[in-house]
Amino acid sequence: MNNFEFSRAISVADAVRQIAADPGAKFVAGGTNLIDLIKEGVTQPSRLIDITRLELKRIEDSSDGGLRVGALVLNSDLAYHPEIDKRYPLLASAILAGASPQLRNMATTGGNLLQRTRCFYFYDTRTPCNKREPGSGCSALEGLNRMHAILGTSEHCIATHPSDMCVALAALDARVLTAGRSGERSIAFADFHRLPGDTPQIDTNLSEDEIITGVELPPNGFAKNYSYLKIRDRLSYAFALVSVAAALEIEDGVVRQARLALGGVAHKPWRDREAEAQLSGAKAAQEPFMRAAETLLSDARGFGHNDFKIELARRAIVRALGQAASAAPQSQIDKRIR
Ligand SMILES: Cc1cc2nc3c(=O)[nH]c(=O)nc-3n(C[C@H](O)[C@H](O)[C@H](O)COP(=O)(O)OP(=O)(O)OC[C@H]3O[C@@H](n4cnc5c(N)ncnc54)[C@H](O)[C@@H]3O)c2cc1C
Ligand code: SF4
Repeated sequence: MNNFEFSRAISVADAVRQIAADPGAKFVAGGTNLIDLIKEGVTQPSRLIDITRLELKRIEDSSDGGLRVGALVLNSDLAYHPEIDKRYPLLASAILAGASPQLRNMATTGGNLLQRTRCFYFYDTRTPCNKREPGSGCSALEGLNRMHAILGTSEHCIATHPSDMCVALAALDARVLTAGRSGERSIAFADFHRLPGDTPQIDTNLSEDEIITGVELPPNGFAKNYSYLKIRDRLSYAFALVSVAAALEIEDGVVRQARLALGGVAHKPWRDREAEAQLSGAKAAQEPFMRAAETLLSDARGFGHNDFKIELARRAIVRALGQAASAAPQSQIDKRIR
């Protein structure tokens, strides 16, 4: 039995004050990840600070023509919001490819960003895991690593970030809005999550006293030529083996701008600017798509059970880019199958 205190935050300032006062405290939003981690003994917060009553539930226009999504907007409300559906269908598709309707009805935008890895060893407190207990070792390196990373790994951790929503947010160049004791910050999505390096216990660059207040979407949602392709063991209710968010701007058959982000392959949503630059100015066709996949995966490395992910990722990239180019996103194909 782990005893903990429970309190409610009545404002963002109050939430920051409460978390700063207790280094062992954690915010709880939908609780769909945190409560599991507490039950499994992976984390033992001294206090849970309920943030669900904060005024962070709105989706509003931002001054630059984009949208600002409050941290407490539920995943389902976000995916089905008419502006998201119309202007950011890549984001809607990614969210709807994740978890289950029940979970999406509880899970929040802020919580989704901070969900922890699904590495089995991280959850199994009887096994060494540097992310759970720094310095204890990494059981996945020589263990069952079928779900694990092929890019950006370190000798200390090869876990993947499990979110689908974050892959789309990375591709869209979203920003994470935070508030803390030193004021407010707007963090580029690419700088929010971290690679494991020698501190795999730290997933993000959020400070201990900060709360996520929202996510900002830039004006360009790539609403015409996009696809979110998620490859997983089951068609529903399973985390990605590999996922690809592809977004293109095409004029006369030529790619003017490309965005490519991968999930299930690294400790953070994976973007490769070189592969994107290579696509820009190229024909929207199979061959350049294959070259971009080669570039993106040039440093990929498997650890035995997950070697197959390299070829899977290569094929998924080419397919997702093809779907985006022909304005036939995977989500439409899924609808037709059902
Ligand atoms: C069975 C199952 C299957 C799933 N499948 C998928 C899937 O396929 N794809 C996918 O993307 N996700 C999947 N999920 C994960 C789910 O999307 C996350 O659990 C959810 O998004 C977390 O949101 P939450 O609001 O419940 O977070 P919580 O569990 O409340 O919190 C998670 C973490 O975020 C912190 N936190 C929450 N809000 C804030 C904030 N505003 N500021 C600072 N810190 C905050 C908490 O302290 C905690 O550390 C699955 C979950 C389950 C249980
Ligand atoms: S991959 Fe990371 S999370 Fe998994 S056992 Fe190794 S250190 Fe722990």
